[in-house]
Formats: sequence, C-alpha cells, structure tokens
Amino acid sequence: MSATIIDGKRVAKEITDALKSEVDALKAKGVTPGLAVVLVGENPASKKYVASKEKTCETLGIKSIGCKVPDTITQAELLKIIDDLNNDPAVHGILVQLPLPKQLSEKEVMHRISSLKDVDGFGPDSLGRLVLDEPGFLPCTPHGCIKLIEAYGVDCAGKHAVVVGRSVIVGKPVSLLLLRKNATVTICHSKTANLKDVCLSGDIVVAAVGKAEMVKGDWIKPGATVIDVGINVSADGKLVGDVEFEAAKERAGFITPVPGGVGPMTIAMLMYNTVEAAKNMLK
Ligand code: NDP
Repeated sequence: MSATIIDGKRVAKEITDALKSEVDALKAKGVTPGLAVVLVGENPASKKYVASKEKTCETLGIKSIGCKVPDTITQAELLKIIDDLNNDPAVHGILVQLPLPKQLSEKEVMHRISSLKDVDGFGPDSLGRLVLDEPGFLPCTPHGCIKLIEAYGVDCAGKHAVVVGRSVIVGKPVSLLLLRKNATVTICHSKTANLKDVCLSGDIVVAAVGKAEMVKGDWIKPGATVIDVGINVSADGKLVGDVEFEAAKERAGFITPVPGGVGPMTIAMLMYNTVEAAKNMLK
C-alpha cells in the first residue's frame, strides 16, 4: 500500500497561521517582532532563500530587516554588523544566510550572534541547551522534522530512528530531538558500514545527506516513517530529495515529498523562533 504523503506546506501553514495571532498580540503590547537577515554576496540559492524568508515575515507582520552586503566584506566588517544588530532593540532575531564566502569564518560569525537573538539555533549556547535538554532556540530544520512527525501522530517512543547524516545543521540536532522523544537513535555518516541494513531496521528514517535519491526504496522497512531533508537537483533538472521517493512511498507508512515536505517547515520554525525571541524580550 502506498504511504501517506506528509504535507509540509499544510503543517507549515497551520504553524504560521497560529503565529500571526501571536504577532498581533505582541504588536498590541507595542512590540513588533523584527528579524534581521544578513546576506553576503550574490549566491542565487541564498538570495532565493532570503527572499522567501522576507516574504513570510511580511505575511505575518514580522519586520524584516535586510542586510545585504557584497562578498568582498571583511570578517571585521561583518562582525561589526552583527554587533550593531545585537545592540539594536528593534531586532529580535538575527540570521546569517550560509554559506559565507571562503575568506569569512562562519564559526566566528555564528559565535558572535547574541544567544538571545540566535533564531537559527546554531550558536554554542543554543546547541548546548539542546544537549542539556534546557529551553532554547531549536535549529529550524530539525525542529521542523519533529513537528511533521508529531503532526501525523507518529509516536517515537521505543522506535528505532535512523538518521543518515551527522551535520551540525541537521543530522546531529535532529538525532538529539528524536532522542528527546524517546526514540532509540542510530546516527549514520559516510563511514557507516552496511548502510542499507541499518536503514532497513529504522522505524523512522531521516535522510540528510545531500545526495540525490541515495537512500533507495528497498532500504525502507515496510510501514516506516521517512523524513527526507535533502534538496538536490537531478540530472534532468528536477528538485529531488535524498530518498528515492517513488519506490520508497510504496513501502513507507508516511513519507515527506521534495519539494513540499521539510522545506516549508524550516521557514515556519524560523518565524516561530523569531516570535519566541520577541516574547522573551517582554519577560
Ligand atoms: P552536509 O554536507 O553538511 O552533511 C551531509 C552528511 O551526510 C554528512 O554527515 C556526511 O557524512 C553524510 N554522508 C555523505 N555521503 C554519505 C554516504 N554515502 N553515506 C552516508 N552518509 C553520507 O549536509 P547538510 O546536513 O547541511 O544537508 C543535507 C541535505 O539537506 C542537503 O541536501 C541540504 O541541501 C539539505 N538541507 C535542507 C534544508 C531544508 O530546509 N529542507 C535545510 C538544510 C539542509 P560525513 O560526516 O562522514 O562526511
């Protein structure tokens, strides 16, 4: 039987619709949530992501503060911009669109963002809180994956969750969030042996590899929940995930499509974090 397709657009809209009322309530108290998005250079994919973040801000009534700078900017100049945003009371969240040009240290930039405004959740304070199970900003894409699993009523407790990918942006945080939900988690990477067999033992499979359709349909345990984080362009120019969708959906219980699965959730959770940051300022 064919899997239930997890509709990320619908779940993301439900989340942003609820946020709209929260933004209105904050405005009634004199606070307009503000998100600063720093874009360095002219990377077309980055420009596209930034434009859709700005559009969602506009829809929700969140003030979007665009900081577009040339790719010739120095590390010191970029850090000065971050410092100014850290000190600006109208800015509640700061996002630096990655990747940065090679001459810049992403690590130093991420560490410079105030932990109170780290709405991307990649700073050391946010990631430390995630490990410590303390409240804090959760990285947007991993949080979005969990929200999708919850939205479709999949119980993680006692299940075997297999995460393919161990990046700081997706693989590691989503593994910790699955652990928080009492799944038994296996984290796979490029040196994992017998990846197919490991995937086949997963009740939940999260693919965050960045390789088009690498996780094959016959790697999926019948009935499993498949969350595909990958965004790749196939040889024929189509947007595809890390999972061989057509074959996998014939075995899975639930599966996210690409596009329309995890992608819309990332922006929704960024908006969620921005509203949380603005609410925190009122406490
Ligand atoms: P990274 O390149 O940072 O990490 C990829 C991970 O996959 C690494 O841990 C790597 O292992 C592992 N890997 C690579 N090849 C293999 C292999 N053959 N077998 C097993 N594991 C392998 O990617 P990201 O985590 O940043 O992103 C992953 C994907 O998710 C990309 O397609 C990206 O575009 C997409 N993405 C989508 C988002 C969204 O909003 N939907 C947001 C962020 C990312 P090792 O550590 O050993 O090198």
